[in-house]
Amino acid sequence: MRIPQLAVAVLFLLIASAASVQAQPPGVPAPPTSAVGERRIEDLLGRMTLEEKLGQMSQTLFPKGLPDKTKDEIRQGRWGSLFNLGTPDEKAEAQRIARKESRLGIPLIFGQDVIHGYRTVFPIPLGQAASWDPELVRRAARISAREAYADGIQWTFSPMLDIARDPRWGRVAESLGEDPHLCGVLGAAMVRGYQGDSLDAPGSIAACGKHYVGYGAAEGGRDYNTTWIPQNLLREVYLKPFQSAREAGVVTFMTGFNDLNGVPASGNVFTVRQVLRDEWRFDGFVVSDYTSITELIEHGYAADAKDAALKALRAGVDMEMVSTSYHDHAPSLIGSGRLDPKLIDESVRNILRVKTRLGLFDRETSPVNPAGPLAPDALDVARSLAAESLVLLKNQGRALPLAQSTVKVAVIGPLADSPEDQVGTWALNGDRYAVRTPRAAIQQVLGPERVAWVSGLKTSRDTSRDGFASATEAARNSDVVLLFLGEEAILSGEAHARAFLNLPGAQEDLVNEVAKAGKPMIAVILAGRPLTFHSIASKFDAILYAWHPGTMGGPAIADAIFGAAVPSGKLPITFPRTVGQVPIYYSHKNTGRPPSPRDLGIPLGTALNPTGFVSQYLDVDFTPEYPFGFGLSYTRFEYSNLQLSTRQVVMNGGLTVSADVANVGPYEAGEVVQLYTRDLVGSTTRPVRELKSFRRVRLKPGQKETVEFRLSTRDLAFVNDRMQWITEPGRFHVWIASDAVSGLVGEFEVGGEAR
Ligand code: BGC
Repeated sequence: MRIPQLAVAVLFLLIASAASVQAQPPGVPAPPTSAVGERRIEDLLGRMTLEEKLGQMSQTLFPKGLPDKTKDEIRQGRWGSLFNLGTPDEKAEAQRIARKESRLGIPLIFGQDVIHGYRTVFPIPLGQAASWDPELVRRAARISAREAYADGIQWTFSPMLDIARDPRWGRVAESLGEDPHLCGVLGAAMVRGYQGDSLDAPGSIAACGKHYVGYGAAEGGRDYNTTWIPQNLLREVYLKPFQSAREAGVVTFMTGFNDLNGVPASGNVFTVRQVLRDEWRFDGFVVSDYTSITELIEHGYAADAKDAALKALRAGVDMEMVSTSYHDHAPSLIGSGRLDPKLIDESVRNILRVKTRLGLFDRETSPVNPAGPLAPDALDVARSLAAESLVLLKNQGRALPLAQSTVKVAVIGPLADSPEDQVGTWALNGDRYAVRTPRAAIQQVLGPERVAWVSGLKTSRDTSRDGFASATEAARNSDVVLLFLGEEAILSGEAHARAFLNLPGAQEDLVNEVAKAGKPMIAVILAGRPLTFHSIASKFDAILYAWHPGTMGGPAIADAIFGAAVPSGKLPITFPRTVGQVPIYYSHKNTGRPPSPRDLGIPLGTALNPTGFVSQYLDVDFTPEYPFGFGLSYTRFEYSNLQLSTRQVVMNGGLTVSADVANVGPYEAGEVVQLYTRDLVGSTTRPVRELKSFRRVRLKPGQKETVEFRLSTRDLAFVNDRMQWITEPGRFHVWIASDAVSGLVGEFEVGGEAR
């Protein structure tokens, strides 16, 4: 029975008034430090000078060549951590000095941005997210850790857990997409991969959840820009993946560059001290981002470096990256009584705890990375993950896969043979010579004589038409044209925002020119973000989105083109029709005037009279080009027989929801089955859909599987206007779907009292 809204509201007020702010209870705690470890930390703390304590709280770039000055500083305990540069031998020497020649023998921790692979490069994180495959993502992180560890690295600044809903922001490439559930599941998988079963085992490194928090909501998609996120949205969406990482045992977090609701993230007492420490009971350490503490001055939040240090320390940022305000100003802050020295001890304790868990006090670091070829298992995972990250956006008339008997193929485009671009942003240590490009892989499948290779444009930004004639000529002399388009690696990543999302340079002109040859055209798009290519999409028979796919991107793409692998990736982020629709994401609110199906289909660029006073555009259909969760296959999956174990769910109980998924096409293939819900009436309005779960299945032609999900009323909780996680009684819709806008829908009702 439906509970009248007033009754719900009254009940809700009663409960709310009795409760203070409630956090979701923290899940799995971080691995405990042994009693011996804790005793050692206390013993050290008792013997450390303030100078040595502040040293532990300071991190700097590994200076080139490990000069004598730095060696002396390490001897004096000036640094707790060095990062990003330094050869393995230099790291080993620096560590030897720290452990054997410094007064207390406290080891350094070497950090590095190991973002999507180390020597072996996996797809960019956004591409990995398109696989919706936590196990494969975990394995890739495990291999990254193994390779990094062997070069003396003990800590990666990954995973990046920023919710990214604006493709203009260059760092969408580093993100796991727009959805808190997907991002949380995959981020936790990365943490497990890096940290392994045991943090002090060989091949395990510390992970770092970054950038805490809200950084992805930068206004206008411009990097480092201001963020405004209401607290309920912050908790439900932006904090969620960080909480998942916490539950997976992540031992460090990094505070972001952004101003969050007027308080910069690197001086934010609420997010760091209240949420992370008090509510989630995190006992690892928090590092600032690169100079983000002294940037409090630029933000207009601190008067000078001393004030910045005070604010960051009070917030609970334990280690300062690159800037030196802690070291320079904490002594006088303590001397003047403005800073409680207990805060320093607390930070040092957190840092030493992580060093202890990593076993740094007890293990020698010696470089062991073999200089030789990449390991076969690393290449296998790189190939599988690249293959699973491919999203088939269009496949008209079953244009793909191509038969290997296809006589002649033209391979055209600036991204067909560009190893640097293929690995994407943040691939500092990637083995460039190991990269296998699509051009090379396709030539390997067909033999060089059956592949006509013409770049047409030198880079994705090239505006010269000089190469067009030979590209069109190659197309004329071939049976099918494969166009490798997109954006270079340098166009995405940190500080690389774009105001336009179209294919840069003269790529659209190249497509229009080559189309004149009248041959079937397949586009493979390599990019660090969702691009808009609406106006030329109709020229292609098939479109395969490949992101920046990493070392084995070429073979993975060739596998998909010739049918050795069937694309099964699903979009982890909504693709707009045009940049003017941004921000656009699937879990939006309904508004009081939602557009209806009759408002669909307004072509891009037209100016029509509105069909009504509804929430739409005059000059473009309000729907996305491709929705979240979307991705085609060479086979066809049919969803049927939605079953709910009950339609009356008691509070604190749950239900199972299942559907039959059948492969009714000709290929064995993977499918990501997605579970969404909608809370129809809430004390605050709820999104039109929310992803609650997903499962990857693999089915042979003709095979059918019943895919079952368990949903508890806790999964339906949201943050109300009193900042409490609460599940309210009432009606819910539930979908089992292959993307965020379609699927089989059912309804159930949750009864009882709000909890
Ligand atoms: C980035 C971080 C990165 C750090 C260290 C910063 O500019 O925002 O993501 O980990 O540099 O390289």
